[in-house]
Amino acid sequence: MMLSGCRPAAGVVYQNSTIDALLDGNYDGEMTIAEVGRHGDWGLGTLQSLDGEMIVVNGTFWQIRADGAVNRVAPDALTPFAAVADVGSVPSIPLQAMENYQALQKRLDALRPNDGHAYAIVIEGTFEQIRTRSVPAQDRPYPPLSAAAADQRLFDLRDVRGTLVGFWFPQSMQHVNVPGYHFHFITDDRSGGGHVLEVSTKQVTARVREISEVRIALPRTPPSTRPSAPTASELNRVER
Ligand SMILES: [Zn+2]
Repeated sequence: MMLSGCRPAAGVVYQNSTIDALLDGNYDGEMTIAEVGRHGDWGLGTLQSLDGEMIVVNGTFWQIRADGAVNRVAPDALTPFAAVADVGSVPSIPLQAMENYQALQKRLDALRPNDGHAYAIVIEGTFEQIRTRSVPAQDRPYPPLSAAAADQRLFDLRDVRGTLVGFWFPQSMQHVNVPGYHFHFITDDRSGGGHVLEVSTKQVTARVREISEVRIALPRTPPSTRPSAPTASELNRVER
């Protein structure tokens, strides 16, 4: 039986692999950037061997390496983990200045009508201060993400124009993607960015796309041989 009109016209997130596989140290890319890009114009992730943070801005893939270098990613580059969505023609909402990440998250909470769904979020404008991190490429045998992230490099950017791209996922999806908010950042002049740890905004606008469907390309890599599966506290330590 066809039921029409029962589901809202919400969007789709497409992702390669799962956050649990990444936490486990599966850093070998199983999908090209070109393939990921067929499924969405905005998103985030990482690259082969965990070589830096990746952000997708309007169809262009960028790498922010641990040494701070920002590179455009080649279409044949491989990614072990990426998530993309089409943000589409959702209206751009001006936000008041936010003094920290917590205040920004609170404001975004009010723009999410349904905690059961996920959200793709793009925030553009001027940022007063933003603290990001990136991680260096890892050697085999790969350590788990908690160990790799211990080697992260921090960047403090001030008074920059740029773009935050990220997602909010419900807690129920913690083994698939990062629950709560997760943003990557890049400056307008493409000189810096990374995985966002703290942020205060000046004049920004937000586009928030509700997501009712998540499509996952499952990793070929066998499941964890570690004695215990990645835990929520491990995820928190790595991502926050
Ligand atoms: Zn990240």
